[in-house]
Amino acid sequence: MTKDYLNKFKGTLMGVAIGDTLGGPFEGILREDIYSKFDDFEDFIWNNKKLFKTYTDDTQLTLHLAEALIQGNGFNTNSVIKHFVNWLEDPPIKPGYGCITSIKKLKYGISWKKASSNSGGNGTIMRIAPIGLFHSKNIEILKKTAKLSSLLTHSHPAASLGAIIIARAISYLVELEIKEKIIVEDFFSELINSISHIREDIQDEFIQNIEKLKTNLNLSIEAGLIKFSQIGVKSPYFIEEYLGKAFVHPYSMSTVICTLFIFLNNLDSFKECIYALVTSGGDTDTVGAIGGSLAGAYFGFDKIPEEMISLVKNRKYILNVSERLYNVYIKQFNRLI
Ligand SMILES: [Mg+2]
Repeated sequence: MTKDYLNKFKGTLMGVAIGDTLGGPFEGILREDIYSKFDDFEDFIWNNKKLFKTYTDDTQLTLHLAEALIQGNGFNTNSVIKHFVNWLEDPPIKPGYGCITSIKKLKYGISWKKASSNSGGNGTIMRIAPIGLFHSKNIEILKKTAKLSSLLTHSHPAASLGAIIIARAISYLVELEIKEKIIVEDFFSELINSISHIREDIQDEFIQNIEKLKTNLNLSIEAGLIKFSQIGVKSPYFIEEYLGKAFVHPYSMSTVICTLFIFLNNLDSFKECIYALVTSGGDTDTVGAIGGSLAGAYFGFDKIPEEMISLVKNRKYILNVSERLYNVYIKQFNRLI
């Protein structure tokens, strides 16, 4: 292996934490209202450091899933459930409905098929990065594992589809050399292929929206977010007063499409990419966490500015988890060749 996979693992998990930390304070706010708070976002961060003192449930559950993969030497359902239940003791920071309700049931021994909430929210996508990393060399296993990891807490197919797409995107980016150009056509066809085997009505809608994204990548960030903010959202969840506004809805399809849109429009600098993600409006911590994992996988840890890392709580632990996950991954990889 010639690629520096450890650099990619560290970048991906640190990217989750940075995006989550910087996006957390803006969760639930319209993009235009976020931008009314500052002239220069970087100045705003450093003048208001207290606002950014923690990550949220996105990073917490990502780290618990990573620990489960490390301990189980890969995905083991019981081990993953045990680590998700451990999260309740952290305690959870700004938890989403789908994860907290189902994991509380798992704690009392209810089977995951009964405990799983019928949520199509972002709770399973925001924690998927370790699976994208760990199974980057076996896409069939990646798809199955991403789906199962999602079903443990979210029975809605939109959550599974989103988790598979983001896991596949991470695996694609991990296999690129640092800043090797993404071949857009190739990237999109891999994302579509990753869910083409799933027989759900919503799968067609997801694929159509990925195709729509591909043909709208030239839009400005504002215009793209207005176009995709509430994509796929059905009544009664649709927020009518936010029509024509940039506000990423906390639903799998809209979040995945908006996050990919911002990421693909910011491939010059990790910092600029993160700033665009966390000021998207709406579910900003999760857009930051998911997009942060993509940016970290793409740019690598070495390209993340030190001052951004210095903002992250438990950063040494996050690097330690990244290294241990990498070590288990390398052993697995050596077995495959
Ligand atoms: Mg969160």
